Amino acid sequence: MNIDTIKDGYVIDHITAGNAIKIYQMLSLDKLDCQVALITNAKSKKTIIKDIIKIGSLIDINLDKIAFINPEATVNIVKNEKIIEKKKLEIPKHLINVCKCNNPRCITSTERNLDQIFNLVDHKNKIYRCYYCESTLEKEQFIF
Ligand SMILES: [Zn+2]
Repeated sequence: MNIDTIKDGYVIDHITAGNAIKIYQMLSLDKLDCQVALITNAKSKKTIIKDIIKIGSLIDINLDKIAFINPEATVNIVKNEKIIEKKKLEIPKHLINVCKCNNPRCITSTERNLDQIFNLVDHKNKIYRCYYCESTLEKEQFIF
């Protein structure tokens, strides 16, 4: 793939350097059939270095996962080699099946069919609590 041009797909830009691999894992991009380019430590004017992910297909992507890891990122939707939409991300108020509760006594650890739900309780410090047991979400508790 020419990493500069994508016919149809996404360019996830302005990712804080080092976060692209987390987004890559969280979105399970390794399981896709289409082409994916992961560019780390790219130079940009806004930030000194940044990461970029290019996905060569308009697959369903969970923007909340990207926003949870990197709310500063922008998601560009590309059709026929043109950016048709730039999506600004916001810190999600609810995380549904993005992260798993670590509390062994939480109902979600025995009732496996329940959705994993976390609610944002502190916007400034990005603190989430489990909807069921109120456990605080640790930063790296991802569902991959
Ligand atoms: Zn819980």
